[in-house]
Amino acid sequence: MTSKPLYKRVLLKASGEALMGSQGFGIDVAVADRIASDIANARQMGVEVGVVVGGGNIFRGVAVASKGGDRVTGDHMGMLGTVINALALATSLRKLDVETVVLSAIAMPEICESFTQRRAQHHLAQGRVVIFAGGTGNPYFTTDSAAALRAAEMNAEAIFKGTQVDGIYSADPKKVPDATRFDQLTHSEVLEKGLAVMDVAAVALARENAIPIIVFSIHETGGFCDILAGGGRKTIVSD
Ligand code: UDP
Repeated sequence: MTSKPLYKRVLLKASGEALMGSQGFGIDVAVADRIASDIANARQMGVEVGVVVGGGNIFRGVAVASKGGDRVTGDHMGMLGTVINALALATSLRKLDVETVVLSAIAMPEICESFTQRRAQHHLAQGRVVIFAGGTGNPYFTTDSAAALRAAEMNAEAIFKGTQVDGIYSADPKKVPDATRFDQLTHSEVLEKGLAVMDVAAVALARENAIPIIVFSIHETGGFCDILAGGGRKTIVSD
């Protein structure tokens, strides 16, 4: 392991499910605090961090559509859920005195700043953690796609995709105990094998912009910084 971080600027994707902890719904503040402390440690290492938060712990648009409702309205509800999560994570970071801004893809000026690429670049260069809320701002997309998009816009050197397990497996290791774990894959292999790590649009966008995706366990305390320092358990997706 080296003390100099591997990357200067990264994008962390934390799903809503991660923030939920062991609860069935909503936000477990202890989990948000723990993820925030990992981000704070990354900042201590000098790494500039952007974060895209999901919203699945609060709402998913397909839930409305599957019951005969309007998908677009459902997706608006999902995107609002990501804003709630972003505010929760920002609160946890500020408790640790980490300067943090929330930039939303959907304008809500009383609550947070609106996203523009210029603002994001400015805040990151000032050493602030930038939390990207509201996904892409468009229905029919996911926060994985938002992660790839924001990573490209902020010139991130890597996307850190925090998941429930410590990398990409040939099958869900919680259901298939002898599933094999990959150390390294290309973006094309992830797409060809149909590995469920990020959605196809997100992986394709990362491939097009030559951004590596590092898949690791969001629940492993210190895991984020271990990888930034050159160690840790992960699967690296790069071409
Ligand atoms: N969503 C959307 N556009 C986006 C990002 C998210 O419409 O660009 C909506 C969509 O309904 C999605 C919900 O927000 O189901 C929550 O996002 P996601 O499912 O990606 O969250 P995660 O699975 O990461 O918790």
